[in-house]
Amino acid sequence: MGESREGGPPPPAFLRCISPGCGLEYPVRDGRVRCGKGHLLDVAYAGRPDPGLKEVFLARRDPRGSIFNESGVWRFRELINFCSIDAEDAGACARSLVSLDGAEGRLSKPYRMRWASRFAGMGGGLWLQPEGYNPSGSFKDNGMAAALTHARMIGARRIICASTGNTSASAGMFAANEGLDCEVYIPAGQIAPGKLGQAYQFGARIVEVDGNFDDALARSLEVARGGGGYTVNSVNPFRIEGQKAILYRALEHLGWEPPDWVVYPGGALGNAASCGKALMELREWGWISRVPRLAVVNAEGASALADMYNGAEPLRWNGGRPDAGIMERYYAGAEERGERPSTRATAIQIGRPANLPRCLRALEFAGGVVTTVSDPEMLDGMSAVGRNGFDCEMASGAVPAGIRRLVREGTIRRDDTVLGILTGRQKDAALPVEYHRDPSNAFSRPPRA
Ligand SMILES: *Cc1c(COP(=O)(O)O)cnc(C)c1O
Repeated sequence: MGESREGGPPPPAFLRCISPGCGLEYPVRDGRVRCGKGHLLDVAYAGRPDPGLKEVFLARRDPRGSIFNESGVWRFRELINFCSIDAEDAGACARSLVSLDGAEGRLSKPYRMRWASRFAGMGGGLWLQPEGYNPSGSFKDNGMAAALTHARMIGARRIICASTGNTSASAGMFAANEGLDCEVYIPAGQIAPGKLGQAYQFGARIVEVDGNFDDALARSLEVARGGGGYTVNSVNPFRIEGQKAILYRALEHLGWEPPDWVVYPGGALGNAASCGKALMELREWGWISRVPRLAVVNAEGASALADMYNGAEPLRWNGGRPDAGIMERYYAGAEERGERPSTRATAIQIGRPANLPRCLRALEFAGGVVTTVSDPEMLDGMSAVGRNGFDCEMASGAVPAGIRRLVREGTIRRDDTVLGILTGRQKDAALPVEYHRDPSNAFSRPPRA
């Protein structure tokens, strides 16, 4: 992407194994999600985008009739240009880029939220970015715009995914817009009704799997390998590319001055992985002068990353050679004890996070920490956000709750600048009702008799 303000198409992007010791590369039109040795892939670019593009991105906020300028993803298209198009060529954009009429990422940006800030014990430096403002109601739309763009590029007719709910809602919405078939594998009975309803409404074919998310993902990947569809889970490297825009929007809002911390809930760890890749690139291109620290928040009941990262034998990226023995022993131990991930925050109820290696790389690059929070803490976090007039779901409540833990233990300082990503909006109406009916909850406003 040797792209600058001069325009013209950049050199082609390609796929590269994330493991530096492996180095396998594939053309960008390849549909695989892993290298020949089974490692995850990065989308890699040949060039170095000019920091002068910051002005171009800002100017596009007056969209001048272009949905790709309206889009909070494609507004930054020079940094996600795996189609290698001339980003100023309106016809090329319309032929190549998939968008929900410019709506993905258009409304999300960092906000100050007084209640949440007080709850977290922060001074004035907390920013929370509600990705629930996306058309399907979660951050997944950022990545899905890019994944569907790649699906179109290689002529896929059917997309396929496993989902804890929001992936299927997003995939279903994009597929319906593009006239593609969509097949989603869900853990039966473990999906918020609002999310499942969206997938049905958008015409997705639902396959109920008797098991948890990890089982559903294994099934869907197997079907995809057999030619049954194009995978749009976050193992897909193009999902990771689109989700970089979450960070771009926040950084732009902060004048490209990085905060001290960026905080995400951790499920399959695609978001944390994407943040890491965005930061590595921005640093390499000279767009940011320092790297914020990354914090990932697991649910106590689904804490594979936290357990391994903070374990007696800590799991690290280790220059691209994470200790496979630690992971194998951990998963085998959980299997033996019959442990299943368990939290009411179903969006992060994941036992085997598919992006673990990419996330370890991000944590190493960005001085990362990993913490856990309980279900009651997440509900408090969710409700503190609600009292500011923003809604978020329980898994997103892990962010203010995790910041609170890290402030209490002195890892995050009260006067630090912190950016927290609220990953999705409330789609389980029963949760806040239940929370507020119980007067013992920190932020509850019980009904009057
Ligand atoms: C998918 C999802 C997550 C988990 O994100 P990962 O990138 O898989 O870690 C968290 N919160 C919400 C609302 C989600 O939809």
